[in-house]
Amino acid sequence: MNYKIGLLRGDGIGPEIVDSAVRVLEKIGEKYGHSFSFTPYLIGGAAIDQCGEPLPKETVEGCLASDSVLLGAVGGPKWDGLSGDKRPEKALLGIRAAMGLFTNLRPAKLYPALKADCPLREDIVAQGFDIVIVRELTGGIYFGDRGYRTGKYGEEAFDTEAYSRMEIERIAKVAFETARKRNKKLTSIDKANVLETSRLWRKIVHEMAADYPDVSCSDMLVDNAAMQLVRNPAQFDVIVTSNMFGDILSDEASQITGSIGMLPSASLGDNTCGLYEPIHGSAPDIAGQNKANPIATILSAAMMLLYSFNLAKESQAIVDAVDRVLNDGYRTADLAHGKPSLSTVEMTDKIIEYLD
Ligand code: NAD
Repeated sequence: MNYKIGLLRGDGIGPEIVDSAVRVLEKIGEKYGHSFSFTPYLIGGAAIDQCGEPLPKETVEGCLASDSVLLGAVGGPKWDGLSGDKRPEKALLGIRAAMGLFTNLRPAKLYPALKADCPLREDIVAQGFDIVIVRELTGGIYFGDRGYRTGKYGEEAFDTEAYSRMEIERIAKVAFETARKRNKKLTSIDKANVLETSRLWRKIVHEMAADYPDVSCSDMLVDNAAMQLVRNPAQFDVIVTSNMFGDILSDEASQITGSIGMLPSASLGDNTCGLYEPIHGSAPDIAGQNKANPIATILSAAMMLLYSFNLAKESQAIVDAVDRVLNDGYRTADLAHGKPSLSTVEMTDKIIEYLD
């Protein structure tokens, strides 16, 4: 089977880390008999420089015609002076909306080999954690009515949150299905003691729990969840939550792994074409120096194999190769604490070698 992959290399370290993931996918293709074809499209600052806009029409059309899309990162000081709509980062919201990606999956796992990088207390680190956050991506307060008006005390601004039954059901379904493939434990996070949207969210999640008797499902208020993530992260398996709560909690969860260069993500919609990207930015401070950690992007490619192409064995092979490389002590500079380290290309070579 031939899988068509759109490549959005973007800016800064984007081209280096996307090229690493492409090499790993080519190795997987060779080893397991699949064919991947890669077509690059412009996005972010690179697109502004060549076409005058961060998300050209050809890029959107190319992504929509692909079986899946791999993104590096966008942005950098060169484009920081541009106004909101013209900035490279604007392309991220645009491409997610154009592809109808309403789910963001963010795994946050503490690698045993990287325990020393975790900022939490030793006894908490010793327990480890392996969480997937399922965040609603196209609804809620980030997309609701907003504006300015004159209120009781003069000038005021407002944002509104609305969630429909359809939006809650479709994200909860993804979360239950994700939990079913893992440790069958789902925590739904809301603010049902205050917000109507959360009360509807909770009611629908409870209704749906009846269809997933094999998944243990519980609720947690978002303020408590923020505490529990640093107090006892091992209690979580899959978390499902709204757009804004997911935005905040997924950053908190990524921080407690202690390694920004390690964390992948997947954004998914109704069909199997997804957008896969590392959670970090374009790291302009190390761009073009062959220093970036390519693992987050390589693991994003592994998520693509699993969620877009249903190639579970091939996906797991990448995850296992990364685990073994780390267990054997290989590190890029971000994780080496001044000790000898591998370059981007050398780390990619090592992962490819371990795939054999
Ligand atoms: P950043 O994630 O790019 O960098 C933060 C720090 O982490 C830097 O010191 C960087 O060198 C380091 N780092 C990040 N990824 C790394 C990797 N793979 N290997 C080694 N070190 C790594 O965040 P920032 O500095 O706040 O943002 C830089 C630019 O990226 C900005 O223009 C920002 O808007 C953009 N950005 C883009 C995305 C995206 O494309 N999804 C996300 C966040 C930020």
